[in-house]
This record gives sequence, C-alpha cells and structure tokens, in this order.
Amino acid sequence: MKMVLIGAPAAGKGTQAARLVKHYGIAHISTGDMLREEVAKGTELGNEAKSIMAVGGLVSDELIIAIVKERIKKDDCKKGFILDGFPRTVVQAEKLKEMVELDKVVYINAPDDVMLQRLTARQTCPKCGATYNKLFLPSKTEDICDVCGEKLTQRKDDTAEAGQKRLDTFHEQSEPLVGFYTKEGILFEVDGTQDIDEITKEIIKGLDA
Ligand code: AMP
Repeated sequence: MKMVLIGAPAAGKGTQAARLVKHYGIAHISTGDMLREEVAKGTELGNEAKSIMAVGGLVSDELIIAIVKERIKKDDCKKGFILDGFPRTVVQAEKLKEMVELDKVVYINAPDDVMLQRLTARQTCPKCGATYNKLFLPSKTEDICDVCGEKLTQRKDDTAEAGQKRLDTFHEQSEPLVGFYTKEGILFEVDGTQDIDEITKEIIKGLDA
C-alpha cells in the first residue's frame, strides 16, 4: 500500500495517518514532522526551513523532494507507506510519480472555518508525539499527555495568523493536486467534518475497495 493523504492544515491527516499505519503495518512519512525534527536539531536544513514554516509558507520543492526520495528508500517502507503532507504542489506530485507508483490518494475535505478553529486548539506531546485537540480530542488531564505525562505544547505555526496563511497556501498550491490525482484515477474524497472513527472507517473502506 503506497498512499498519499491530502488535506488542508488540521483536516486530520496526522490523526488518520497514525491509525492507518497501525491498521496496515506500513510506514508513516510526515514531511512536516521531519522538518520540525531538523529545526529542533538546528541543522542547516532546519535553519533554512524554520522561518518559512513559522509564517506558513512552503519550503522549496527541490529540498523536500530530496528528503522524500531518501526517506522512501528506507527498509520500513518496503511494505508500503503513507505520505502525510507530501506532495503539496503539482511539481512535487510529478516528481513523486517518477519515483513510485501510488495505489491511492485520499483527500480529507473540510471547510476553512472548521480547520482554523481546530488548528488553534491543537496540542502535541513534545516527548512521544501524541496529538490532541481541546475541542474534540482533549487529554484526560488538561495540558498533560495521556500517554507519557509530559506537558503538552502548541505548534508555533498553529496560531490564527500562520494558520490562515497555511490555509491560503493550501488553496493556492495544494488544492490543484485534487484535479491531478482525479485525472490519474486514484483519488477519493472523505468528509473531514465527521467523527474521527467514522473518517477512519470510510478511508479503510475506500482503500480496500
Ligand atoms: P505540516 O506538519 O504538514 O502542517 O507541515 C508544517 C510545515 O512544513 C508546512 O507549513 C510547510 O512550511 C512545511 N512543509 C511540510 N511538508 C511540505 C512540503 N511537502 N512542501 C513544502 N513545505 C512543506
């Protein structure tokens, strides 16, 4: 299973990817997570990406394509993978097509106002990576990770301002991917405003069809 999850920020890509990798036993490749790791480590790549990410822009196609190209060669991708956050431009999609043959692309769709509201309520555990949302997936104890007890943090780009910019960037640069993959005949769409379990069920049904 080689698949891509497309969706605006806070559409639920990361949440669904975490469930799907368990279900199918495949690798989760989140370009956003990979970039955040580089930023945290203070590498040259991280320093280059940091300011772009902070304002909700996209890092260069060239850079991100090189990262993904190396990542999908790793052993854990042999059984398949879910790409979460890549491709984000048609140029990236064209390059990916040269690298692998995808089975399916899932588009998680939801209106901007819903995503903006969700985005500012998101929380992440800096230690184990678990994700929460104060609106519909709160931790049992406020601001504390259920899994490991660490204090939860908010992503720097999950502010109303950067969030709006990321939504605009999605519409301008990433939404054309819906047309691209529809033409390829491998895209199906799910309604991202549904309950999390419902979305997972619908995606698995679509992937297994
Ligand atoms: P995400 O965690 O997927 O929301 O990604 C966080 C940020 O990382 C984005 O707002 C971009 O600045 C950057 N990023 C992640 N994936 C890509 C990509 N495929 N192309 C360009 N920039 C990306």
